[in-house]
Amino acid sequence: MPFQELINNASEKLANADRLVVLTGAGVSAESGIATFRDAMQGLWAKFNPEELASPSGFRRDPKLVWEWYEERRSNVARNRPNPAHYALAELEKIFLSSNRKFTLVTQNVDGFHMQAGSNNVLELHGNIVKNRCFREDRLLSDAEIERETVPPKCKHCGSYVRPGVVWFGENLPQDTLSEAFEKAEKADYCLVIGTSGLVQPAASIPVVARQSGAFVVEINSLESAITPISHIFLQGKAGETLPQIVTEIKKY
Ligand code: NAD
Repeated sequence: MPFQELINNASEKLANADRLVVLTGAGVSAESGIATFRDAMQGLWAKFNPEELASPSGFRRDPKLVWEWYEERRSNVARNRPNPAHYALAELEKIFLSSNRKFTLVTQNVDGFHMQAGSNNVLELHGNIVKNRCFREDRLLSDAEIERETVPPKCKHCGSYVRPGVVWFGENLPQDTLSEAFEKAEKADYCLVIGTSGLVQPAASIPVVARQSGAFVVEINSLESAITPISHIFLQGKAGETLPQIVTEIKKY
């Protein structure tokens, strides 16, 4: 089927949907200049494996190395901006809410770009790279609670190291956020999956649960992924080009 026809079909169904769940992955931020996880391991960091840099044991072994890797990723996020895919999703949220329909955006991304683009109801499954947590007490810390004389800096309350506010390999996802995401997936009648390889669990099960519960599943990805076989429509293309086309189409209904 021609691509435009697939867009039209996906948009028509979306225009008639009542409960939308969107799942986004690193591909949504690729056009903003944020590397996907695999790309982020390139260059200077190519000799390390992710478990060494993004895990509690890696942080215990070499806190300075891990902190500096995250500082580089944080400065990359600070230098970059949301792209048309993020803005299209923020617009879609407004369209749904203004017509009293349900909209939930679940993201695996840690860059905060969905909120920057104006999305309000975002479930961040893997945390946020801009935030800081106390390594020992595992709670969020404000800037005022951080002593910045060492690398990594230290928690002013307990003297333990500060860590980035993301979920690492081997750690549990925030349970309330995860439960809410699955609850919304079970109730959804439409699930839009964008820029994720569908390999990281439990996030990858969200579209599976939505489909099993009767939702219509549409995927946008530049390449086929583990989600493609369960999608009703696969839109092969860049998120920053395809999503704005869908938003333009549904405004016609
Ligand atoms: P992934 O890196 O495993 O997969 C990225 C997917 O995006 C691929 O399927 C790729 O084909 C697709 N893609 C690439 N460019 C695209 C584009 N322009 N338009 C549409 N699709 C595109 O990412 P994942 O599935 O999100 O899982 C990786 C993990 O790494 C997640 O847990 C996430 O938390 C973390 N991560 C987050 C960020 C971020 O916050 N921006 C960046 C890197 C990694």
